[in-house]
Amino acid sequence: MNFSYTSEQQAFRAEVRTWLEAHVPRERLASFDTREGFEQHRVWERQLFEARLSMVMWPESLGGRGCDLVEWLIFEEEYWRADAPMRVNQNGQFLLGPTLMQFGTEAQKQRFLPRIASSQDVWAQAWSENGAGSDLAAIRAKAVRDGDHFIINGQKIWSSRALFADWIFGIFRSDPLSDRHHGLSYVLVPLAARGISVRPIKGLNGLDSFAEIFFDEVKVSVDNLIGIEGQGWQLAMATAGFERSLLLRSPGRYLRTAEKLVQLYRRHHDRADGDPLLREAVLQAWMDAEAYNLAAYHTVGKTLRGEQPGFEASANKIFWSELDLRMHETALRILGERGELLPAAPAAGDVDNWLEGFLFAQAGTIYAGTNEIQRNIIAERMLGLPKA
Ligand SMILES: Cc1cc2nc3c(=O)[nH]c(=O)nc-3n(C[C@H](O)[C@H](O)[C@H](O)COP(=O)(O)OP(=O)(O)OC[C@H]3O[C@@H](n4cnc5c(N)ncnc54)[C@H](O)[C@@H]3O)c2cc1C
Repeated sequence: MNFSYTSEQQAFRAEVRTWLEAHVPRERLASFDTREGFEQHRVWERQLFEARLSMVMWPESLGGRGCDLVEWLIFEEEYWRADAPMRVNQNGQFLLGPTLMQFGTEAQKQRFLPRIASSQDVWAQAWSENGAGSDLAAIRAKAVRDGDHFIINGQKIWSSRALFADWIFGIFRSDPLSDRHHGLSYVLVPLAARGISVRPIKGLNGLDSFAEIFFDEVKVSVDNLIGIEGQGWQLAMATAGFERSLLLRSPGRYLRTAEKLVQLYRRHHDRADGDPLLREAVLQAWMDAEAYNLAAYHTVGKTLRGEQPGFEASANKIFWSELDLRMHETALRILGERGELLPAAPAAGDVDNWLEGFLFAQAGTIYAGTNEIQRNIIAERMLGLPKA
C-alpha cells in the first residue's frame, strides 16, 4: 500500500478543512430525533450541498463533485475531525443513493438523487417488521400491482427518523402468493401519501428516534419501483452491503472518538492510571481505530483496482460496532460517577456527550443486521462452515 497522498489529495483535504472550520455550527445542533433538531440538520446539509461537499463521490450532474474513494475517506476524516453534525439523511445518502446509482433508471436518478444530496428529501428505511428483523425474508407487508400503481397494506417497525422524514424506501411482497426471498419489490413511498400513519417509538435517550409505519390501501405509482418487480431481494442485499460497509460508518468517525478518548484519558490520568486495565483499554481502542482506518484504505485500494470487496462488509460491521461500544464504555469508566451526567447538568464539567454516545453504541450491534447474523454470514459463506 502506498501511504502518501498526492498533491491534489492534500489540496482537497486543505480545502475541506478550511471550509469546515469556517462553517461547522459552533453550538451543537439539537438532536435530529426532535422536530427542531431535524430541521436544523436539514439546513446544515443544504449548506454542505451548496459548497458541493454533501455527496463528494457523486457525479457533478447529480449534486456531487466526482471524487474517488480515497478523496471520500479524506473528506470523512476531516468531517469527523471538525466535529461536524451527524447526517440526518444518512439513510438516503449512504444507503438508498448508491442503490439508485446501481439499479435506478436515468429518470429516477435525476428525480431523486439531487434532492437526496441537498436533503430536500430526507429518507427513512422501512424494512423491519414484527417477525421480520433478522429474518428479513419473512416480510409480510404487501405492495400489489393494480395497473400503473401498487396498493400497499401492512406494517413496518423500527424505522429510524421516520417521524419527521419525507420518504421511505421499503421492501414489500408484490406477489401475495410468494414465499421468503421471492416476490418482493423495492418501492419508494412518500410519507405524506394518503393511508399512511406514523407512530413514534422512543429510543434509549427518551426521544422519538424510531417509528412504526402503518399502510392502509396506500396508492403509489409504479414509477417508484426500483429495479424489477419481484426482484427486490437482490436490491435489498445491495443496500444492506452499503449499510454494513464503509459507506455508513467510515473510519473517520472512530478515529475521532479514539482521539477524544485519549484526550479524556490525559485529562484524568491521575485517576485512570490507578487502573492499568483502563490505560490498556484506551491504548487498544486507539490501535483498533487505526487498524480500521488502515483496513478501509486496503479495501478502497482493492475496489479501485476493480476487485469486489466481498464479505468484508460483515466483518466491518462487527468491528465498528464493537469498537464503538468499547470506546464509550472506557470513557464512562474514566469519568466514573460523573459519566452518568448529561452535558447540561450543573456538575457535568467535561463529560461531553459520552453518555449519549454510549446509549447509541448499544444499538450498533443490532441495527444494519445484528452481529449474530453477521457472524453466521462469515461462518457459512466466508469460512464454509456448516449451517447450525
Ligand atoms: C438503533 C436502531 C435503528 C434501526 N433502524 C432501522 C431502520 O431505520 N429501518 C429498519 O427497517 N429497521 C431498523 N432497525 C431494526 C433492525 O434492523 C432490527 O432490530 C434487527 O435487524 C434485528 O431484528 P429484530 O429486532 O426483529 O430482532 P430478532 O430478529 O428477533 O433477533 C433477536 C435476537 O436473536 C438473534 N438471532 C435471530 N436470528 C438468529 C440466527 N439465525 N442466528 C443467531 N442469532 C439470531 C439476533 O441476533 C438478536 O440478538 C433499527 C434497529 C435499531 C436498534
